Amino acid sequence: VGLGRRPANYVALTPVSLLARAAAACGARIAVIDGSRRFTYADLYGRCRRLAAGLAGRGIGSLDTVAILAPNVSEMIEAHFAVPMLGAVLNPLNTRLDPATIAFSLRHGGARALIVEAEYAALAARALGDFAEPVLVVAIGETGIDGAVPYDSLLAEGDPDYAWVGPVDEWQSLCLLYTSGTTGDPKGAVYSHRGGYLQALGNAVTFGLTDASVYLWTLPMFHCSGWSYPWASVAACATQVCLRKVEPAAIFRLIAEHRVTHLCGAPIVLSMIAHAPAHDRVPFPQTVRCAVGGAAPSSTIIRTMEDLGFQVTHLYGATESYGPATVCLAQPDWADLPETERYARMARQGVPLATLEAVSVADPATDAPVPRDGVSVGEIRLRGNTVMKGYLGNPDATEQALAGGWYRTGDLAVWHPDGSVEIKDRAKDIIISGGENISSLEVEEVLMRHPAVMLAAVVAKPDPTWGESPCAFLELKPGATEPADQELIAFCRERMARFKVPKSVVFGPLPKTSTGKIQKFVLREQARAL
Ligand code: ADP
Repeated sequence: VGLGRRPANYVALTPVSLLARAAAACGARIAVIDGSRRFTYADLYGRCRRLAAGLAGRGIGSLDTVAILAPNVSEMIEAHFAVPMLGAVLNPLNTRLDPATIAFSLRHGGARALIVEAEYAALAARALGDFAEPVLVVAIGETGIDGAVPYDSLLAEGDPDYAWVGPVDEWQSLCLLYTSGTTGDPKGAVYSHRGGYLQALGNAVTFGLTDASVYLWTLPMFHCSGWSYPWASVAACATQVCLRKVEPAAIFRLIAEHRVTHLCGAPIVLSMIAHAPAHDRVPFPQTVRCAVGGAAPSSTIIRTMEDLGFQVTHLYGATESYGPATVCLAQPDWADLPETERYARMARQGVPLATLEAVSVADPATDAPVPRDGVSVGEIRLRGNTVMKGYLGNPDATEQALAGGWYRTGDLAVWHPDGSVEIKDRAKDIIISGGENISSLEVEEVLMRHPAVMLAAVVAKPDPTWGESPCAFLELKPGATEPADQELIAFCRERMARFKVPKSVVFGPLPKTSTGKIQKFVLREQARAL
């Protein structure tokens, strides 16, 4: 064997192979439940091959971009396999964006095809009006878009035994995911087949998916390709249950009806489940594992979910890292900790997923790792195969984000002696008051312990004396009476250093993004205007 030579048995890693294997290994198992529709693994593989063949017949091929605008329906899962079968690149679009931003993504990503589900027909039609290039429109259901090819016709004309080739090289692009673009034009993070394959396995292992698992789609699949769960579920031969709209009644009904064992969501989704009205709750006998990430969960929400019988796994990551990059892995001695301390540990972001090479917390000025003392603050950096290849057509931003081979997250954290990281704030959210740094998360964590508070967001408000001061925006639990500002301030005073205590408090619903993150930039503007 010549060392350093690629052996004859080399095959490019690709998540598509996971479906081929599942269809061969357990073809009769239910792969997808979508309303009244049921697809076995054999069906799913057949549908994906038909779709790939149908797209190929319409001229779509290697490295072409295929955008998709759809809720969490079976076709969305199918696109995650069929498009990569062609070596083409899937571009899942955020369904909550405005037509101009969708048109920007189509143009920037060079879309050759757009798959649209009926619910987003009007949005797609308006975006297409701004997009001058010829594009193949594929319609799931009735869209009324001129010249659109019905999805089912594509399936009907495609060969279920289509001999897909997949990527020539495993570093070939798999998906294109636009970041939300709060500070300018969105940036398109590019994933590779190799990364998608590894992320799927990493997530399946981390979240304990097996062939007995039933995964419920409470996370939008357009967000980081559903954190790779379309592929991770298939790797495990699990069943995926589709959900069009995240509503507590539907979530409880599906959990009970299909014996759901796993679901993922941002803290806001957990909060919605935890505070669901009594008439929406349906009891269920099984343990449901619930992965939370996308924004920092408070220890209060983790505790509330566990009290309700859910088992919480805390994940942290970014679009640039294919979703989850770290997991808060429980250490054996946590079991002996007092409850408050144990839930606080569970709110830490944790250690790298098995398939990520490394996590570091580095001093942004010197790039040197900070000591693992749980006190020194640095920037979280990620390295490995499950970090994006770069931003499409944006070498400067890529160079900046991936300098030295590490992805610079912009998240400020401490590193604990046990190797776990704990986020203090996003660099842009930190509050600097009288020269002291205040972690907005730390203040929110305390506010969320108040019995009337459901959600808390703390932002910087310009202050003539201190430069900035913390301003708290609070959403109350259903039916809770609004506490007096002074009572809340006193509540904080008892639990934190004086300079961290919010100087102003505002009640009302908090503005959120499509993925359920609180829009702090909106709150900062509101605070400025107070
Ligand atoms: P956006 O930048 O638009 O929010 P991303 O989904 O890429 O889109 O967001 C990634 C960021 O979300 C991370 O850099 C981090 O700030 C935050 N985040 C994700 N998961 C967690 C978590 N478990 N705890 C704290 N922050 C998180």
